[in-house]
Amino acid sequence: MSRRPIIAGNWKMHNLMQDAIDLTNGVMAGLKEYNKEDLPTVIIAPTFTSLYAANKALTDCGCGKVRLGAQNCYFEPKGAFTGEVTVEMLKDTGCEYVIIGHSERRQYFSETDEMINKKAKAILAGGLLPIICCGETLEQREAGVTDSHIASQIRKALDGLSTEDVAKSVIAYEPIWAIGTGKTCDADEANRVIAMIRNTVREMFGSAADQIRILYGGSVKPETIEEQMSKSDIDGALVGGASLKADSFVKIVTGAMAVRA
Ligand code: PEP
Repeated sequence: MSRRPIIAGNWKMHNLMQDAIDLTNGVMAGLKEYNKEDLPTVIIAPTFTSLYAANKALTDCGCGKVRLGAQNCYFEPKGAFTGEVTVEMLKDTGCEYVIIGHSERRQYFSETDEMINKKAKAILAGGLLPIICCGETLEQREAGVTDSHIASQIRKALDGLSTEDVAKSVIAYEPIWAIGTGKTCDADEANRVIAMIRNTVREMFGSAADQIRILYGGSVKPETIEEQMSKSDIDGALVGGASLKADSFVKIVTGAMAVRA
């Protein structure tokens, strides 16, 4: 079964509003010569404060080649939760995707598997799609518990979701030791872990495992994407650092397209 690849850019806590507009326009300019149908699903995830502006740049262009995502949300629909942002608010700014469970949120903001599960449910109930991150630390890899740790993260994140919702969701396997370090996980090993994740999804939800898209993330660069995309189970990439420059992000998008054309 062929799954449409996804290339998603996580801009993290970078870019003021004008930078975000410039980067959004730069990505669209770089994709101008390509047909929308040939491209992967391309997603940019700016900070909350730039979502409106990035969405305006996307809609003004009208090319429909780039979708908008957010980097986090809260699971409650409204209320006294100072500093938090609801799914409906994200939808209001034009978001279609929400990254949840990024290792930086787990590490620095104490995001738990239970919270990630609640967020996934709220995102899907609100008509958006979650990009659910998982991954192991270097210590866990060296202790030989990579697979059991990640399978547990996935089981908890997807607990209680419907098969239909799982089929349209996205998972990103991001080994923590490869994020922002320049050390990319060997493509065969990334593919092995992603196949293991797909198998976990199959045990829980049957054939939804053939539809869910599972990305690799961790120091993806234009030079690495073709090998990564040539692997059987890698459906795309979640890109941090290399998504902050339009030319490198566009090269990753077109590199993925070249392999899956
Ligand atoms: C990320 O933040 O999700 C990420 C993979 O970052 P980088 O590409 O910089 O390693």
